[in-house]
Amino acid sequence: MSVPARHPHRRGCPETTGRADMTYDVIIVGASIAGCTAATAYGRAGLRVALLERHGNPQSHKTLCGHFILGGTHDTLQRLELWQPMLANGAAVSRGLGVWSEAGWIVPRPNQGVPPAISLRRSKLDPLLREIAGNTPGVDLLLGHRVVDLVADPAGPVDGVVAVTPDRERLTLRGRLIVGADGHRSAVAGLAGVPEDLAPNQRFLFWAYYEGAQPNGPGDGQVWLLDPDIAVCIRVDDGLTQVGVFPAKARLKEFADNREQAFRRFVDRLPDGPTLAGARRVSNLVGTTDYPCVRRDPVPRPGLALIGDAATASDPVPAVGCGWAFRSAAWLVDATAEALATGGSLSAALRTYRRAHRFIDKWDDIGRTDALAAPPNAIQRAIRTAAVHDDAIARRLAMFSMRAAEPSVLVNPAVAVRAAVRSRRRTAPEPVRV
Ligand SMILES: Cc1cc2nc3c(=O)[nH]c(=O)nc-3n(C[C@H](O)[C@H](O)[C@H](O)COP(=O)(O)OP(=O)(O)OC[C@H]3O[C@@H](n4cnc5c(N)ncnc54)[C@H](O)[C@@H]3O)c2cc1C
Repeated sequence: MSVPARHPHRRGCPETTGRADMTYDVIIVGASIAGCTAATAYGRAGLRVALLERHGNPQSHKTLCGHFILGGTHDTLQRLELWQPMLANGAAVSRGLGVWSEAGWIVPRPNQGVPPAISLRRSKLDPLLREIAGNTPGVDLLLGHRVVDLVADPAGPVDGVVAVTPDRERLTLRGRLIVGADGHRSAVAGLAGVPEDLAPNQRFLFWAYYEGAQPNGPGDGQVWLLDPDIAVCIRVDDGLTQVGVFPAKARLKEFADNREQAFRRFVDRLPDGPTLAGARRVSNLVGTTDYPCVRRDPVPRPGLALIGDAATASDPVPAVGCGWAFRSAAWLVDATAEALATGGSLSAALRTYRRAHRFIDKWDDIGRTDALAAPPNAIQRAIRTAAVHDDAIARRLAMFSMRAAEPSVLVNPAVAVRAAVRSRRRTAPEPVRV
């Protein structure tokens, strides 16, 4: 990695320590997925960017993340020239997951135009994105800089941040646009007094990585919809397999009593589940027993935008968050770069960003309902049953699961009717011939 540890990048900008009011076009708080993506794109657009990260070590990374990036993000990653670097760092690509439900396996069909998903552990992904951002002309990556305050005229826009430097000095940076990319607990949102919309999550998550695990289901990865529990088996970088269980909270006690045994029992009972006998587990169990959904206005105040988890930290079970972080960052830059470069109307540009973000809001509404771990309704059951045999419904289900289209790709009356007909046709007993 070319990013030096514990020293900020400074390209053509004044020394940080002791200087107040350094001015940038954009100040981004948080150098993880959303922040690095936005910084890279702004830098490539010719803007001057300060990218502040509280951790001093460029290798620091998020550990509580399953890092399966849904296919709906594929085009964004290609456009931002991040897909190839991820592949070069060993990312595993998934072109079709097998989905098990009580109706049987929904086997992925080839050549249906469903974009591929990608998985690279955060221990590799976060440093890679930071390296790309830090090497982008115009971007000053300020590691070890924790933002502790915002600068704003009470009646005017937010136009600066105060950070504590690695030398424990307070540094003031000013910018026309301040971006909170600082995760689901967003300090920036807290400092700006942005209200939070919280929703419960009735599942919990644990997973581990294996060398030599033998998948037994169809596709290049598997998902089990066990109603209400869910499980996954996913190929990741370095030839490892990630096995994850997402039970409903009714099973919390079982996991509290003996987490290791409960995990193994769960996996061993999966229909066509992976063979772990002979495999070597190469990690601890990673996970959390409570992860509520958080949502904030992505443009909460003039001069301030939130991206990634700072705007929407969705239920982790459908694996949407990294994709939302990449995509919301790209949308913010698409909407605002020109206004920032030319001195155009930033508020109009931010309204455009907020409109683009509605795509995520719609999906988050669905995610919040699914996170309640309620039994599937009749339409959901019909869709799963029909998708076992019906290519068109299987394709729509895959596009839906990959967040590769609007929710209406699956949630619409025509699909419901077709699924009802197709599922009935399949489940009705054959007429008896005498
Ligand atoms: C259990 C679990 C499993 C998940 N699995 C998946 C999955 O399989 N697929 C998927 O797509 N998503 C998954 N997610 C979601 C995903 O992890 C997040 O959506 C993603 O990390 C959001 O990226 P981000 O850049 O917005 O925020 P983060 O990755 O949280 O980064 C925020 C950054 O801001 C920095 N920061 C914070 N405060 C400050 C401050 N005051 N000053 C300076 N810097 C600061 C932090 O150090 C950090 O680097 C999962 C989440 C959980 C909890």
